[in-house]
Amino acid sequence: MPHRTIHLFRKGLRLHDNPTLLAALESSEVVYPVYILDRKFMTSVMHIGDLRWHFLLQSLEDLQKNLCQLGSCLLVIQGEYESVLRDHIQKWNITQVTLDAEMEPFYKEMEASIRRLGEELGFEVLSLVGHSLYDTKRILDLNSGTPPLTYKRFLHILSLLGDPEVPVRNLTAEDFQRCRPPDPGLAECYRVPLPVDLKISLESLSPWRGGETEGLQRLEQHLTDQGWVASFTKPRTIPNSLLPSTTGLSPYFSMGCLSVRTFFYRLSNIYAQAKHHSLPPVSLQGQLLWREFFYTVASATPNFTKMAGNPICLQISWREDAERLHKWKTAQTGFPWIDAIMTQLRQEGWIHHLARHAVACFLTRGDLWISWEEGMKVFEELLLDADYSINAGNWMWLSASAFFHQYTRIFCPVRFGRRTDPEGQYIRKYLPILKNFPSKYIYEPWTASEEEQKQAGCIIGQGYPFPMVNHKEASDHNLQLMKQVREEQYRTAQLTRDDTDDPMEIKVKRDHSEESISKGKVARMTE
Ligand code: FAD
Repeated sequence: MPHRTIHLFRKGLRLHDNPTLLAALESSEVVYPVYILDRKFMTSVMHIGDLRWHFLLQSLEDLQKNLCQLGSCLLVIQGEYESVLRDHIQKWNITQVTLDAEMEPFYKEMEASIRRLGEELGFEVLSLVGHSLYDTKRILDLNSGTPPLTYKRFLHILSLLGDPEVPVRNLTAEDFQRCRPPDPGLAECYRVPLPVDLKISLESLSPWRGGETEGLQRLEQHLTDQGWVASFTKPRTIPNSLLPSTTGLSPYFSMGCLSVRTFFYRLSNIYAQAKHHSLPPVSLQGQLLWREFFYTVASATPNFTKMAGNPICLQISWREDAERLHKWKTAQTGFPWIDAIMTQLRQEGWIHHLARHAVACFLTRGDLWISWEEGMKVFEELLLDADYSINAGNWMWLSASAFFHQYTRIFCPVRFGRRTDPEGQYIRKYLPILKNFPSKYIYEPWTASEEEQKQAGCIIGQGYPFPMVNHKEASDHNLQLMKQVREEQYRTAQLTRDDTDDPMEIKVKRDHSEESISKGKVARMTE
């Protein structure tokens, strides 16, 4: 007997390479494509901020439009997950619920409760992996049931597994014609809400527009430049270019508007035609494998997004300082490079990987000695691509709590940005208050004389803050703390250690140029 199916979109907001929706269509006489908009879940569990709300609503609109073109529609039902499902399963005589398998604990718990509901109400549940290259369980099985804790070991396990599953075919109108769509009246009832309905800000300044259509267009654009794709070397991309110097596809992968498998195989085709191409960890496929690495480790590490109870994470007495955290979050550190990055993040929801390095290092082991969990939460709220596993994994990395061991390399908040953007165009764009400073002062405007500050139209301490710390003193102090922690917790530190050096880092010599910050001008010194 063919099923009467609810296909539940959670991520996976796409019609290309959607194995679960394909299976739903192949096994059913009627398919209801449903997105449950559970606002409480989105705010209290997913911590979704305004920009991501916009991106999500745009993605749902796009999905609705694309489904319509194939003769179906998207039903966006607002309410709490379980009660929405319970109601509609009975109302529509549902015999099957299909959904993508996800690895976040809250999504796993949701799937488990849907399965319990299935036992109670008598429907089947089908879930397939579509959000990652591999089913992470297969990787764990090959590594004796535990996650490979270094990238090198991870690549070794993948070499035993072979290539990822190939993408399934794109869905067509014929797929939808085989089974009945929901009644047209339902689509009217369950429309994608507007921002005003959800009481979120009406406008987004982000240049990223959500949706599969936009994601695929951006993907195609990148893939036309085959030379760029083949030679892509992540550390050579520029953190402060005014347009992204990497693909900028992460928001689309994060919400599943784009399939990582599709991208992986499109890259393979280009590599096959190129004379030479870059390799993991720095190649584009290498980036997807970093994603996969963090997914795999997160899937089997207790408390992955926390320090306490997380077996791979160094236990550090970070400083609790709400005022300093607030300055960092709201772009008021007094270091233009850091503040410009945080402004781009707040306005647009995306920043380059090395820009993420700069602000994450500054918040944690570099300058402020504030917990990576606090930074991760801010990123979770502000990033369009916020992702449970990747965000936490990278924050542990940057704070040298796990995965990264060259902890003596500390990014200088003055020099790091200057190397790739000596004129400070990026700072001028995101911190227009500083735009008239001569280039030699743009990264450290407090070193300009009062007269020069007047000429630039901004007095430091009034229009823009003094640096909140003396970088040299703070980072020297923190380095000593970190050294001590690592000696005391040597065994934990070794768990995620590769014997090779870290290729993602640009070697930055510790830099003492900030000695020019005169003590009197530093708003507040580190201890
Ligand atoms: P590209 O360089 O074009 O790479 C292609 C894809 O590979 C990305 O879209 C992403 O899916 C994946 N990828 C790239 N770099 C990494 C990486 N280091 N780890 C895992 N996957 C990677 N990325 C997120 O998607 N979500 C997050 O929440 C997130 N939080 C981060 C937090 C910190 C502190 C840091 C340092 C990095 C974080 N990243 C996160 C990783 C990385 O910065 C972004 O994936 C990347 O900058 C996105 O830009 P892109 O799409 O142009 O990447």
